[in-house]
Amino acid sequence: MTGIPDTERGARQQLAACYRVFDHLGWTELIYNHITLKVPGEDGAFLINPYGLHFSEVCASNLVKIDIDGNRLDDSTHPINPAGFVQHAAFHRALPEAHCVMHTHTTAGMAVASLKDGLSISNFYSAGLAGQVGVHPFEGITTRSDEGPRLIASLGGKRALILRNHGLLTIGRTIPEAFLRMWALQRACEIQLAANGPVEPVDPAIIEEHRRNLSQMVKIGNIGDAEFAAMVRLVDRKDRSWRD
Ligand SMILES: [Zn+2]
Repeated sequence: MTGIPDTERGARQQLAACYRVFDHLGWTELIYNHITLKVPGEDGAFLINPYGLHFSEVCASNLVKIDIDGNRLDDSTHPINPAGFVQHAAFHRALPEAHCVMHTHTTAGMAVASLKDGLSISNFYSAGLAGQVGVHPFEGITTRSDEGPRLIASLGGKRALILRNHGLLTIGRTIPEAFLRMWALQRACEIQLAANGPVEPVDPAIIEEHRRNLSQMVKIGNIGDAEFAAMVRLVDRKDRSWRD
């Protein structure tokens, strides 16, 4: 990564680490799905995974730099999936705070996205997310940019989105923030599916109290920083090659 500014190098490494964390958690889908990140200090530049590689193969140097229309901005020889970026670009384009966009096709996420009643506010994690998750109707694979305004409308000022029949999506000002949001949503979906029998909805009055309590928890650094750092240390014990 010679000649790459320190800010971009740092962004590449943190994003590559995030791909490895997703792999560690099993949030992978063959060579599909994307986590995208704005390049700090460079307007209109984004990093995306090279198309054709598994998340476990992503490293700082093979991430591809592209513009908002999916045109490459570096001399990478790796292909990218322009269709895959269309959905992410809708959020990066419309929301200045959407520095990071994550999208998964996990079994639990897609299963809850396929349930008629969607996410049920019946467990610790979904109660913490109550009122914070938008729902977007399925329009087929997201390859048309005209779906962008409808995706933003479905998000409705929230930071997490269930794509009906399809999967989960979160945005964040940082990778750790988007990661922690995705982790909570994924856990909520997993627990909802694991519940065997009629579920007990969380009392609306308790939801408010629960959300207030969660927001007052002791914070270490910015949102998600400590959680993400712990996961990166875990990944490091397996393979440190994401830094390269
Ligand atoms: Zn998808």
